[in-house]
Amino acid sequence: MGEKSRELFQKAKELIPGGVNSPVRAGKAVGVNPPFIDRAEGCFLWDVDGNRYIDYVCSWGPMILGHAFPEVIDAVRQVALKGTSYGAPTGLEVEMAQAIIEMVPSVEMVRMVNSGTEATMSAIRLARGFTGREKIIKFEGCYHGHADSLLVSAGSGVATFAIPGCPGVPAALAEHTISLGFNNLAEVRKAMEKWGSDVAAIIVEPVPGNMGVVVPEGGFLEGLREITLKYDSLLIFDEVISGFRVSRGGAQELYGISPDLTCLGKIIGGGLPVGAYGGKKEIMLSMAPEGDVYQAGTLSGNPIAMAGGLATMRQIQKNTNIYKQLEEKSQLLFSGLERAAHKAGLSVVINRVGSMGSIFFTEEEVKDFASAKQSDCEKFKKFYSGMLEQGVYLAPSPFEAWFVSAAHDSEVIKMTIECAERSFASLGS
Ligand SMILES: *Cc1c(COP(=O)(O)O)cnc(C)c1O
Repeated sequence: MGEKSRELFQKAKELIPGGVNSPVRAGKAVGVNPPFIDRAEGCFLWDVDGNRYIDYVCSWGPMILGHAFPEVIDAVRQVALKGTSYGAPTGLEVEMAQAIIEMVPSVEMVRMVNSGTEATMSAIRLARGFTGREKIIKFEGCYHGHADSLLVSAGSGVATFAIPGCPGVPAALAEHTISLGFNNLAEVRKAMEKWGSDVAAIIVEPVPGNMGVVVPEGGFLEGLREITLKYDSLLIFDEVISGFRVSRGGAQELYGISPDLTCLGKIIGGGLPVGAYGGKKEIMLSMAPEGDVYQAGTLSGNPIAMAGGLATMRQIQKNTNIYKQLEEKSQLLFSGLERAAHKAGLSVVINRVGSMGSIFFTEEEVKDFASAKQSDCEKFKKFYSGMLEQGVYLAPSPFEAWFVSAAHDSEVIKMTIECAERSFASLGS
């Protein structure tokens, strides 16, 4: 690691808990000090020491067009010149709502917030307010932000640090959260037989990315839709990662399922702090000032954030080939990684949906959190250091996704595979 990054990290650790403003960034799980980033462009990051990295974190998903995309930067700059915030409605918010409703099939009405955490927290409150019920069902390894009710068996960040639940979350609140195995419909049926009439909502990452990528088995999401309808519970798709990522209309479009509520974030802000939750009009009208469920935000719908997000969405709307191209690039990358691992005599499991994928160092199929945790973390650690040293920046945890952007070209992907070959070889025997 460069000298300047090392110095900054030392100083940061005295001023900020762990030196970071989001835990996984500190690199504890991989035993590596984090490079401090100075700038980014396309698929590259540069750290404060001038090292260049091919970036597969993409700010944990948002940068689907690549970094510093000219139209996005222009839009942000133009709007900033007109003032940074008014705390009053703007036309940009109407445009944003229209774009979301047009692109995400089940969303008829939407409210903007400032993060994915706010989106899921608000959707849960809405579900409870609308149904008059308190319990929610989530799935082990699915992360829905850090709101109290949802911080139970919550995947990567929590998994990485082996925190069993979280101190500070009142037991009386956690009690209302039932956590079940992903892809296990039988467990859901059993839980609903027992608690169904008290369950406000089932919340799920339709394509989990926070225990590493896991693919929903055929019938699982359909089953959740059926069961929630049967018990008059709401189905919430947390598409903060999968929205505008696995297809233009997210996982709900890809798998043809219509949830009652959808949470969005990441790509929708184009790298600015944005989240949103939306769904059926009948349900959304429960929100204040139309209804009694309260939720608010001083900076919600912020003009700069809307401009950056909208410019990103406009590119996705305009470039009708983007998902086909992302699929091809990702196919090239992950098939190359698999070949490279096999060449080094390593067994790996690769899970991928579109341009999000993960490598697990295990022989067994990874279909839920329990199987994801079978992955050999020591191997990942070595692989990670090897990649970072060669200038490939991956999420610093074995339970995260790689994201491919429109800016990753075949040359960069080829370089990545060559780096992976060397990195795999160093831990092969
Ligand atoms: C990132 C993420 C969140 C939380 O979003 P923040 O903007 O980090 O608060 C919620 N749900 C899912 C599925 C996510 O990946």
